[in-house]
Amino acid sequence: MFLDTRVLRHLTAEDWRVLTAVEMGSKNHELVPTPLIERIARLKGGASGVHKSIATLAKSGLIGRMKEAKYDGYRLTYGGLDYLALHTHSSKDVVYSVGSRVGVGKESDIMIVADKTGKQKILKIHRLGRISFRTVKSNRDYLRNRQGGSWMYLSRLAAMKEYAFMQALQEEGFPVPEPISQSRHTIVMSLVESLPLRQVSSVPDPASLYAELIDLILRLAKHGLIHGDFNEFNILIKEERTNKYTIEDGEEKETETVTLVPVIIDFPQMVSMDHVNAEMYFDRDVECIKRFFKKRFHFVPTQPGPFFKDAKKTVGKDGAKRLDATVEASGFTKKMLKELEKAIQEQQAKIDAGEAVEEEELDEDEDEEDDSGSDSDDEEDEEDQQEEEEHAVFEIPANVGRPLS
Ligand code: ADP
Ligand code: MG
Repeated sequence: MFLDTRVLRHLTAEDWRVLTAVEMGSKNHELVPTPLIERIARLKGGASGVHKSIATLAKSGLIGRMKEAKYDGYRLTYGGLDYLALHTHSSKDVVYSVGSRVGVGKESDIMIVADKTGKQKILKIHRLGRISFRTVKSNRDYLRNRQGGSWMYLSRLAAMKEYAFMQALQEEGFPVPEPISQSRHTIVMSLVESLPLRQVSSVPDPASLYAELIDLILRLAKHGLIHGDFNEFNILIKEERTNKYTIEDGEEKETETVTLVPVIIDFPQMVSMDHVNAEMYFDRDVECIKRFFKKRFHFVPTQPGPFFKDAKKTVGKDGAKRLDATVEASGFTKKMLKELEKAIQEQQAKIDAGEAVEEEELDEDEDEEDDSGSDSDDEEDEEDQQEEEEHAVFEIPANVGRPLS
């Protein structure tokens, strides 16, 4: 099931209050009892149409009912959480409209959004705990065994961590997108007009781009950090054009030089240089770049390394601020980092095992389901419905310009 931001415009203030009530209730209940939803919503607003709002929200797929449960209640869906986050971004005037989806990462959806002035930005929606439709079907234990609301919690942790690092890296002058806003499991950042390195077929000077990327790895290390997923998808290449005017034989001549500037993205898996497996992560990042440059540009560096033990000696040197410590100091506890790391590893293991399917395949599956399915209320349908809600994302026309409210 795919949601449409059009739903947002139909929601009344009361509906929003009830949706917020379900979110608040989710902190302590996987399934929020209906009387609790009523109580929280009434406390906040004193209105009486809670039931009507519950029906509207359930119909729009923003909350889901669980029939087989021991008591009557609802839980927030991915879609519901998406809308709450968008609502916050829009009330801060960060986002006015939502455009097309530019990418489906393994753990995220990437959308183009715009503010009121039409300025385009990137909305990254974290989807930790998203697993394939088929896998869920064949493994119902997943839904049963997971902790209450853990996907919500983990996706929010991923967004918080990514945002904190983006801010810290930007302050230290690293080439990263500008962090603009964070809410729940989402972040808004500047749009980098670029191509992922993955899509770059040739470069004029592979040696200098390679050196620049290795330098970034070493600069990160000096600040106590390892990217942890430093690959051709997470390095964006920006073209910077400069025009030089010279006089030749009395005539003005214009020459344009194009410089390739790498911008790094995707930080939820960043690790400290003090991590127990730091050396493995560091070497893997270096190897990733080496392998790609060899394969794509037939470039092999003459020097071996860089080596972890040398990088380790530079941590915090020359007054470099320890960004691993900064982020921990910002309220990210070791426990949270551990939980997030475990979830990211589990997700990666699923992908490696070929369990994850492309979102496009999911679309087809769900469409088929939609075509053939009737709205009968038996248990099997109810379960399918829940699974579909797990994958709810915005399905929005390609043109940016659909106002949120
Ligand atoms: P994931 O964690 O799912 O891998 P990423 O943050 O790496 O998500 O983003 C996935 C893709 O979306 C990137 O490879 C890139 O093509 C695009 N993208 C992400 N952020 C930006 C941005 N700020 N500007 C332009 N493109 C971006
Ligand atoms: Mg990525």
